[in-house]
Amino acid sequence: MSECTHDCSTCGENCASRNEPQDLTEKLNQYSSVKKVIGIVSGKGGVGKSTVTSLMAVMFSRMGYHAAILDADLTGPSIPKAFGIKEKAMGSEKGILPITTHSGIDIMSVNLLLENETDPVIWRGPVLAGTVKQFWSDVYWNDVDYMFVDMPPGTGDVPLTIFQSLPLDGIIIVTSPQELVSMIVEKAVRMAQMMNVPILGIIENMSCFVCPDCGKKHYPFGESKLEEIAKEYSIEILARLPIDPKNSAACDSGKIESVLNPEAEEAAKKIESLLNN
Ligand code: ADP
Repeated sequence: MSECTHDCSTCGENCASRNEPQDLTEKLNQYSSVKKVIGIVSGKGGVGKSTVTSLMAVMFSRMGYHAAILDADLTGPSIPKAFGIKEKAMGSEKGILPITTHSGIDIMSVNLLLENETDPVIWRGPVLAGTVKQFWSDVYWNDVDYMFVDMPPGTGDVPLTIFQSLPLDGIIIVTSPQELVSMIVEKAVRMAQMMNVPILGIIENMSCFVCPDCGKKHYPFGESKLEEIAKEYSIEILARLPIDPKNSAACDSGKIESVLNPEAEEAAKKIESLLNN
């Protein structure tokens, strides 16, 4: 360590006399341009975080924006499959090139780099976090308006490092009714507050099931407590997405771009207005 000048703004050391927080944000690739970055978080896996990430990118793309997805959920990457992407990412002079979907969404995921998409990613935390940082700094993101980051679930070491490394403009919390919603929301809220990232709102996924024959709503996971929780933490409810077998079928067959989802469309419009006001 060189001699301390007491000017923390020009020093990267994290020493005991540091008097201002260190900026740990990774540098974006010099050729890239990304206007807004939105993290999609959840307390645990399987609640529909990747589905919501994909739907938001699809809705923003339909609104005329250049959307992108950075798939940071490295141990459970499901984004390429939802978009039916089979190609592998290639390099160029400007950096690693994301794969562009039919409707023009740019995607980077570890599955686009693995030889076999079924190969497991058995990496330790620092390697996982390092890879996500590279997805930000080494990929050529060409003129992206809105980037959606599919975060790893939970509030552990890897999501924490990613939180610090990417310049998030806001996060969306995804929950399902059967989760211990209050505790999970509180953890996500606290993490976002500690990282100084605004919470754009909460999306409850698998809220209910609408009978295709009679249209009656059923609540297989019990009645939701979302309203009370949103009020308690002053968070906006962006959407309640019903269980929709067409949704999972579209994800499984790589056709998420053809999904019609009015609730997700509404949520995207709310996010657009929150970020532009
Ligand atoms: P996560 O990213 O939180 O692990 P996923 O988005 O991968 O969760 O969703 C888990 C599974 O649930 C997937 O098979 C997905 O297609 C399905 N799924 C998610 N949301 C819905 C929904 N609203 N209706 C029907 N199936 C859904």
